[in-house]
Amino acid sequence: MNEVTNSPPLSIVVPLYNEEANLPILQEELRTALGGLDYEIIFVDDGSVDHTAERIEPAANNRVIRFEKNSGQSAAIYAGLAAARGGTVVIIDGDLQNDPADIPKLLAEIARGADLVCGYRVKRQDTFVKRATSRIANAVRSRYTRDGVRDTGCTLKAMRRECVSALFPFKGMHRFIPALVKAAGYQLVEVPVNHRPRRFGQSKYGLGNRALRATMDMFGVRWLLSRRLNYKIREKI
Ligand code: UDP
Ligand code: MG
Repeated sequence: MNEVTNSPPLSIVVPLYNEEANLPILQEELRTALGGLDYEIIFVDDGSVDHTAERIEPAANNRVIRFEKNSGQSAAIYAGLAAARGGTVVIIDGDLQNDPADIPKLLAEIARGADLVCGYRVKRQDTFVKRATSRIANAVRSRYTRDGVRDTGCTLKAMRRECVSALFPFKGMHRFIPALVKAAGYQLVEVPVNHRPRRFGQSKYGLGNRALRATMDMFGVRWLLSRRLNYKIREKI
């Protein structure tokens, strides 16, 4: 069958690392939120060592990418985006902290002309330490990389598929999607989204593996963007 004619207009990308208890609920919530739409879901199993892979329902519009071993959230998101066939792509965490019910709101902004829609979590449901560090990190990162987005750490985003070409694969990329996409000249919009406490499974991040690495990455991204090739072709013969 021709893959192009078979492409749904909407792709949902879900990074998953040991989310066995969350997955059945997430699939149900996605079905409810997306009812009536033509979509595919790309579940990226990032080397889970629990039963995450087995819990992915074998539905016609479910696609699965399984990594050999745990490779990180950025890798999972990047692989999912690269595989997406929809003209619009949504990214959402697989741990139920993002709410699928917000997806239509993001899609409405795309329909209104935005290229990238970034959710921001109005009532963060995380520990005090996490909220405090995230707040500082978001403020510094936003100013330093000039993305102008208040919550780059919120995974829930929708984008036109063209935006994916502004991304490139490095560990930590998922925190810089707005910076990279904006630097490529695309229009960003922010919308408030729901955030829920993690009920099952564990966060994969602590202070040590987030704050320092994300800060180093920030310098790298700013450098890279300052060295961005910027040319306009006058004529091509
Ligand atoms: N995740 C992943 N690979 C990793 C770490 C996380 O695919 O190495 C997924 C995880 O399963 C979840 C999302 O990325 O769906 C966000 O991770 P987490 O909830 O641990 O981050 P937090 O909410 O604590 O920032
Ligand atoms: Mg989470």
